[in-house]
Amino acid sequence: MARPPKTATPVPVANAELDAMLAQALGKTPAVAVPDDEPETAAPEPVDLAEQHCGFVAIVGKPNVGKSTLLNALVGQKISITSRKAQTTRHRITGYRTEGANQFVFVDTPGFQTRHGNALNRSLNKTVLGAVADVDLILFVVEAGHFNLADAKVLDLLPENVPVILLANKFDLVHRRGDLAPWLRSMQERRNFAEFVPMSAKASKDIQRLFAICAKYLPQQPWMHDPEELTDRSERFMAAEMVREKLFRLTGDELPYTSTVVIDKFEEEGQLKRIAATIVVEREGHKGMVIGEGGEKLKRIGTEARQELEKIWNCKVFLELWVKVRSGWADDDARVRSFGYE
Ligand code: GDP
Ligand code: MG
Repeated sequence: MARPPKTATPVPVANAELDAMLAQALGKTPAVAVPDDEPETAAPEPVDLAEQHCGFVAIVGKPNVGKSTLLNALVGQKISITSRKAQTTRHRITGYRTEGANQFVFVDTPGFQTRHGNALNRSLNKTVLGAVADVDLILFVVEAGHFNLADAKVLDLLPENVPVILLANKFDLVHRRGDLAPWLRSMQERRNFAEFVPMSAKASKDIQRLFAICAKYLPQQPWMHDPEELTDRSERFMAAEMVREKLFRLTGDELPYTSTVVIDKFEEEGQLKRIAATIVVEREGHKGMVIGEGGEKLKRIGTEARQELEKIWNCKVFLELWVKVRSGWADDDARVRSFGYE
């Protein structure tokens, strides 16, 4: 499906106040986004092969720093438009965005686990590391003004030979920008970051600015995807991932990451999608963690997954969730209908 027509939004100029602050903080002139002067046109112009740039950009960081928010903003709401192509690469690709001559392939790394050192997490992290090992750029996301052990652990895992941008997210929550200067200076000592980008993933002008910054790191090579394509993931797959994300987020660390989500039904009726999914857990004991008291947790998982799917697809979703123990198949398995407009 095609993208909605682009509006001719002016590319914002770099924030002068912010850049001055950065320069002061770091004692050097920071790299500044180069505004792209070319106005966006309604129909994308074909870009000459020789001019095309394309590269992988990984988004990493501890949970809750805003990676998903950032990713959605970078890919655009158009991630709702999916192609049904099979996922074939070893990268965990979540979405692409083609802007002018530049095609960004964003690699999501939701499995970054720093809390436990067990075998599964080691293998998960290995997968993540594999995904970031040969990207062209890493966006290391932290909350502006904050850096703790969990951040440090993620940073430690990043390869030396890939440029890393320190993306200080949630900048809108920093009331006095000058307070950030010492923090930025201390961050500079942790790694030779390619750039510092204080921003808010929720501000569209910051996102535009980020595109311009990231563009410099894309190698000149032909695009890998049709510029109209925004993701290689099917809606079915996205639905399963969404339930899984909420499951992990809302159940915390106790629930083993081995639990999976299976889509049992995916039906479309006009502007409505009817989805039934089963959360498969390893042990009877895990079931309780997922269901929660009076079914509260499972209901919340369903509601949050549904709301987010509705937002990205721009349609109504009926989501029905079941929980099963891998070994078991009994009919009394917990079931929650989250037909959620109640
Ligand atoms: P993730 O776990 O790293 O993927 O984090 P999320 O994208 O889910 O964001 C975690 C929380 O931070 C959510 O409540 C977001 O709405 C919020 N958030 C993300 N980016 C920003 C931002 O730039 N400013 C503010 N104030 N909140 C943000
Ligand atoms: Mg996330």
